[in-house]
Parts: sequence; structure tokens; C-alpha cells
Amino acid sequence: MADYQAPLRDMRFVLNEVFDAPALWASLPKVAEHVDPETADAILEEAGKISSGVLAPLNREGDEQGCKWNDGEVTSPDGFKEAYQTIVEGGWNGLGGNPDFGGMGMPKTLVAQFEEMMQGANMAFGLAPMLTAGACLALDAHGSDDLKEKYLPNMYSGVWSGAMDLTEPHAGTDLGIIRTKAEPNEDGSFNVTGTKIFITWGEHDMAENIIHLVLAKLPDAPKGPKGISLFLVPKFLVNDDGSLGERNSFSCGSIEKKMGIKGSATCVMNFDGAKGWLVGEENKGLAAMFTMMNYERLGVGIQGIGAAEASLQSAREYALDRIQSRAPTGAQQPEKAADPILVHPDVRRMLLTMKGYVEGGRAFSTYVAQWLDISKYAEDDERRKHAEGMVALLTPVAKAFLTDRGLDACIMGQQVFGGHGFIREWGQEQLVRDCRITQIYEGTNGIQALDLMGRKVVGTRGKLYELFAQDVANFLEESSGNEHLRPFLEPLAAAVERLDDVTEHVIKQAGDNPNAIGAASVDYLDLFGLTALGYMWAKIAKAAAPQAEADTSGFYSGKMKTARFYYDRLLPKTVSLAEGIRSGSDSMMALTAEEF
Ligand SMILES: Cc1cc2nc3c(=O)[nH]c(=O)nc-3n(C[C@H](O)[C@H](O)[C@H](O)COP(=O)(O)OP(=O)(O)OC[C@H]3O[C@@H](n4cnc5c(N)ncnc54)[C@H](O)[C@@H]3O)c2cc1C
Repeated sequence: MADYQAPLRDMRFVLNEVFDAPALWASLPKVAEHVDPETADAILEEAGKISSGVLAPLNREGDEQGCKWNDGEVTSPDGFKEAYQTIVEGGWNGLGGNPDFGGMGMPKTLVAQFEEMMQGANMAFGLAPMLTAGACLALDAHGSDDLKEKYLPNMYSGVWSGAMDLTEPHAGTDLGIIRTKAEPNEDGSFNVTGTKIFITWGEHDMAENIIHLVLAKLPDAPKGPKGISLFLVPKFLVNDDGSLGERNSFSCGSIEKKMGIKGSATCVMNFDGAKGWLVGEENKGLAAMFTMMNYERLGVGIQGIGAAEASLQSAREYALDRIQSRAPTGAQQPEKAADPILVHPDVRRMLLTMKGYVEGGRAFSTYVAQWLDISKYAEDDERRKHAEGMVALLTPVAKAFLTDRGLDACIMGQQVFGGHGFIREWGQEQLVRDCRITQIYEGTNGIQALDLMGRKVVGTRGKLYELFAQDVANFLEESSGNEHLRPFLEPLAAAVERLDDVTEHVIKQAGDNPNAIGAASVDYLDLFGLTALGYMWAKIAKAAAPQAEADTSGFYSGKMKTARFYYDRLLPKTVSLAEGIRSGSDSMMALTAEEF
């Protein structure tokens, strides 16, 4: 197995050359106060050292040992506690946090790179800081000043970690039917009672306190999603002076045995009149939780890229080293018994497909992060609103497309190893097992596709979609005279036109066919994602082209060649997806239950 190396060269290229992030940061005064290019570079460098040097070496052992449950206590795998301490000492939990409460105020464009390194190095571990950062975001956006002052500083520092408690045994996708109850107390607090399952890092030994954000229903709450409220429920109650008080009345009943991310604890949490405090307004808990979930959704998309990058690194090294058969054009290394498998077109297809998705995906997650930064920090209302629209539209694409292609890339990396990819030794099978959950949690990818097609596209009658289409149109216009981009501009314009047509088609169909949205949604999200990555590869080519000819490192010339591969072999998949979507829902709905 190749040792995971943080892809700093590519991250710097994406940030500085593809997106000119320093100019974006300078245009947002609240961001400019905290970050400049030198600071950003130092953060990347340090994050790279921690990911490669501290987190990656624990990844295999974490998978082998898993977490251990004993009478409500959860012990993390060897080394995790110390690694978590390193994260606390560096303040990494609060990297993007609100400086008023001890966060570092770094922009998401930069934080996204740190997240990718951490998840690529060790996904099971990376979930703890990720959930803590998400919980902080929801608390910062919706909590009262008292709650923020009491909890945020210790959560940003990581001394206390965060967990997200939505799922119940009978309620996963459909949170409207949750049963957990919250009864008001006279002192303004609530007693929370119910069972939550699948709670990631809901109990562990790495932090001094664990702050749960729990969805529950107040007495007499309206039925369905409009009757859900959000509560902060700490493992240890916090005294007025900030010290830890008695243990709250809830506990971890067990942890799950599971396919992957075995180094993380997936907990059953039993709340038995546990003391909690309302976050945000009564019955508006789902909206408040969405602040956290939207953040986590991009984070989960980034997990897909992280795992795929790790897989690509190992597969590339193996393809250069493993010798089998001769190249179709004749022996390339006649002194050896066979040539390295990299000579075979099919091995190259796999590596290039991985590269296309990983590097294009990294640019896409940075693109979404850029809109998140503008939506959070722009001072001009119109600019902020525009960015909010982009974030709403692109978040489900980032979550589902990057994890679907992330798993594809992990499986291709495994395939490059042949039988050696199937056995434990090389680590490829762990990546496949770990990455698989990213398609399921934080809302399954099927639900992401419904969110995109139903709420964001049809629900706005194409208005949000237009924002994206216009952004690509602007790029095409400003790049029209660029000779280097000649192979890309026409196919990109055609792909966007195809997406325009399909978008319009489904909006029309949805008017009189209730199954139209669900029948189109997953293929539509794929079509959208492939087109969006096509746009990213055109941007990458634009940034790389001026340097490519004189490039002796192979970095820029490699970018131009990978862009060509993406346009030749991956973007054309949009044609068949569009064709399938146009066939409508008839064949999908035709079978009776018995015929299945
Ligand atoms: C390892 C792990 C960690 C997790 N971590 C957390 C956590 O920290 N906190 C937390 O609260 N939860 C967590 N979860 C729960 C996770 O978010 C849910 O499992 C997920 O949202 C799906 O819910 P479900 O499993 O109940 O599936 P179901 O909701 O039963 O769905 C089953 C299938 O039906 C489909 N489906 C359901 N409804 C519809 C619909 N309306 N239209 C079309 N298709 C539909 C789904 O896409 C899916 O394919 C975790 C789960 C796992 C396995």
C-alpha cells in the first residue's frame, strides 16, 4: 500500500490557479481579516503533515481493532485518543469556526482542503472533527447567546466533541415520524426521552464531553416534519462557571458491527429524561439541523474524493511496479520478464477515470466551497443571495455525485491490483468498504437526487438551475477566443444545452406525472455532475494551458491530457443519461408488486 501523501501540489493549483482563492478572500472583508496566501499555505502544509504523518498510519489499525463497547463506555482504537489530542492542540476543529467564540474564521475554500486530507488519510477518525465542526455551525447559526458562550469555545477547541442525533429505528429518511420526546421544565430546560440509532461518535473516550444535537418532538407538536425541534443535550452537564457537572441521563446502549469505517463508533443512544436545551425556535428544528446537514453533505462528498485520492495513489504506484504481459505495441522494458501494467490501455482507462473524477471532484468541491464562502461572508445582499442559490442547488450534487464516483474510483483502484486488491494486505479493499457508507448516510444518494430534481429544480421552476447555466455561459463567453480551450468549449456548450433540454423536459413532465421527478432524479443528478465536472476540467485546462508546453514536471501537461480524456471518454456519458431520462417513468412503474 502506498503511504497516503496529502495532495498539496494539486490543492495549491486548484486554490490559487484555478479559482484565484486569494482574490476571493480579499474581496470578503471578514475573511480577509483572518487569512492571506501565506497563512493559507502554512495551514495546508501543516494539515498535510498531520494527515500523512499522524492520521494515515492509524487507518489500518483502526479498521482491524474497531471501537470497543463495555457497559456504556466506548474505547476508541489505539492511537486515536492521542491523534485527537493533536487535532485539539492545533485547533483544527475550529478551523472554519466563528472567531467570536474561539474559531479561526478560515474560509471554507481552505477548510475543504483540510477536510479532504483528513478524510483521505483516515475516514473513521475524520468523522469526529467533521461532526463537531457541523454541530458548531448549527449552534452558531441558531443557538441562543447563552448556549453559544457556554458550549462553542470548548467545541471549537475540540476539548468537547459534537454528535448529530436524528435517526431512530423506525425513522431514517422520514424524520417526520420520529418519536423522541422533549418535555419542558420550569427552568427553561427540557427532558429528552427516546432512542436514537446509528449515532456516529455518539460515545467515545477522546473528548472530555460530548455535545449531542438531538431532534425531538414537543408535547402537542404538529405531526410530521413541521413538529420537530432541535435540542442540545450534553453528556456531562455544564456548570455556570464552565466546569463539568453530573452525568446526564442518557447512555450508549451498544455499538454496531459494520462493513467499513470500523474505527468509528456507530452508537445506539438511549435518552431517559436527559436534560437538554432548545436550539432555535420550537418546531423549526429540522430547518436548524439542515444548517448542519448541508455542511456535512459537502463534507461527505469530500470524503468520497479523499478515499478516491488514496485509492489512486496506491493504484498508480502499483501500476508502475507490477509487471504482467507485454505492451500491445511491443516490449517496453525488454530487460524484464514483462512490462509494467501501466502500458495496457485498460489499466490506463481505470487510472485516468480515477484521475478525472478525483481532480475534477476536488475542483468541484472547491467551487461549491467558494459559493459557501460568498453566501456566508459577502456584504452585498444580492451577491450573498445569488451564492445561497448556488449552494442550495449544488450541495446534493456534491454529496451524491462525488461519493458515487468516489466509490467507483475506489473499486477501480482495487481492480488495478487484480486479486491483490481483494485481499487485506494492500489496503484497497478497506477503501472500498469505508467509502461505501458515503452513499448512504447524510441522506441516501437517492434522496439527494430527489432534493436536486424535486425541490431545487422543479420546485423553483428552473430558477436555481439557471444560476449554474449562466455561470457556465459566462465562462464560455469569456473564454471564446482562447485557442488552448478549443477542444473543450464546443463539447461543454453542447453538454450544457443537453442539460438545459432535459431540465426543461422534466419540469414539463412533472406537471402532469407525479412519478416523473422520482423516475428522472438519479440519472439527472449524474448528468448534472458529469456536466459540472466537464466545466471544472475546462477551468483546469484554462489554468494549466499557459504553463503546459514548457512544463518539465509533467504537472501541467498531465492536466491538459487528463482534460482531453475526460472530454473524450467521460463527458459523453451524458448522451445516454439524457436519452434514458427522456424515456420517462412508464417502464419503471409498469411492473406489479407480484411481477417483481
Ligand atoms: C455507519 C452509519 C453512520 C451514521 N451516522 C449517523 C449519525 O451520526 N446521525 C444520524 O442521525 N444518523 C446517522 N446514520 C443514519 C443514516 O443517515 C441513515 O441510515 C440514512 O439516512 C438512511 O435511513 P435508513 O437507514 O432508515 O433508510 P430508509 O429511510 O429506510 O431508506 C431505505 C431505502 O429507501 C429509500 N427511500 C426512502 N424514502 C424514500 C423516498 N421518499 N423516495 C425514494 N426513496 C426513498 C432510501 O433512499 C433507501 O434506499 C448513520 C448510518 C450509518 C449506517
